[in-house]
Amino acid sequence: MSSVMHSPSGLNFELPEELVLLKRTIREFVEKELWPIASQVEETDEIPQATIDAMRSLGLFGLPFAEQYGGAGVGELGYCVALEELGRASAAFSNLLGAHCSIGAMALHLDGGPELKARFMPALCAGEKLACFALSEPGAGSDAANIATRAVLDGDGYVLNGVKHFITSGDIADYATVFAVTDPARGARGGITAFWVDLNGPGVTRGPKDRKMGLFGSHTCELIFRDARVPADHVIGSVGAGFKTAMKTLDMGRLSLAAGCVGSAQFMLEKSVAYAKERVQFGQPIARQQAVQFMLADMATEIFAARNMVYHTAWKADRGERFSMEAAMVKRYCSDMAIHVVDRALQIHGGSGFMKETGIERAYRDARILAIYEGTNEIQRLIIAEELLRG
Ligand SMILES: Cc1cc2nc3c(=O)[nH]c(=O)nc-3n(C[C@H](O)[C@H](O)[C@H](O)COP(=O)(O)OP(=O)(O)OC[C@H]3O[C@@H](n4cnc5c(N)ncnc54)[C@H](O)[C@@H]3O)c2cc1C
Repeated sequence: MSSVMHSPSGLNFELPEELVLLKRTIREFVEKELWPIASQVEETDEIPQATIDAMRSLGLFGLPFAEQYGGAGVGELGYCVALEELGRASAAFSNLLGAHCSIGAMALHLDGGPELKARFMPALCAGEKLACFALSEPGAGSDAANIATRAVLDGDGYVLNGVKHFITSGDIADYATVFAVTDPARGARGGITAFWVDLNGPGVTRGPKDRKMGLFGSHTCELIFRDARVPADHVIGSVGAGFKTAMKTLDMGRLSLAAGCVGSAQFMLEKSVAYAKERVQFGQPIARQQAVQFMLADMATEIFAARNMVYHTAWKADRGERFSMEAAMVKRYCSDMAIHVVDRALQIHGGSGFMKETGIERAYRDARILAIYEGTNEIQRLIIAEELLRG
């Protein structure tokens, strides 16, 4: 994408100089700081504090946010370029960043009032405080409009009761964007409100971390609200507009998740090309076998398509255009692509790919969630079809 491709129409696929620099900086950080500890993170199920501090020093936690709050203001395209590079490392790192930037603090950044943002965004941009996004509940996953967490107005604030589950970084976040029902009769159409909630306040408890198939180093847990008081001025946006905030935030989340898919798949392709050239069977490198070449060719083609979808959608987002359908398309396509590519990478590596040492079996397990969270791929298809059929 960095090569110049000007057409007479002015179409330009060149990344701006500052994003080329950003890409290079993050690539170096991934190779120097993140890759060397990827196995350790997997085994201990923890990202060392020193690494979180290094991510903070690099300004990663403020990447997509406005400079007036201390963010880097790199826009959606810049954020996607950064996440593409981070996708080359263990998924634990992009999940930590994604829960905070893409959805947790993003809801506040998109729809929060000026006072609320002025109070909380600077510490979030600096990474001194971490945020998470609490929508899902035991009874409301795909059917997010069916949440049962209640918020009842009581004097100068709201009282929250309910349980959120599978919340990424719920164990370490300081704040959460929490979606709760304020008007049961209206449901998603004006009856759900987004709240900015202090997770260290009274009435909030965190469940034990969930035992998962992968994504070690990134944790999910329940967030339990029992008469948790939230000040009225901690409403994000307006009362009743929470479902819209959730959907708008998830558009951003889906796009950046897709960018991570491109990076992880690209890394798998590079590893596979190198291995295919080096591994000798039947007296020649397996790269000479057309069956292996076809796998590599398909991987590269799918990555090429995915990257273009991500960049195009990010460009649209940065122009302030609506991109809900494209966000659903890129999330659906790029997650399936990443799952397919890592499966092919494992196949090319043969038995070695199944062993811990190559890091491919970890990427294989980590990829599987991509088709599930931030809205399953079936739900993405429903969103695309709804947009198409609306006319
Ligand atoms: C590791 C992890 C991290 C997560 N992080 C967060 C987080 O930070 N914040 C948060 O709020 N949530 C989070 N989630 C929750 C995640 O968003 C949900 O798991 C996801 O939306 C699916 O909901 P569900 O698990 O209840 O599945 P269900 O909704 O029960 O779906 C089960 C199956 O039925 C299908 N299905 C359901 N309805 C339909 C339909 N109408 N048409 C076709 N198929 C349908 C689904 O596609 C799926 O295949 C996380 C989950 C995991 C596993």
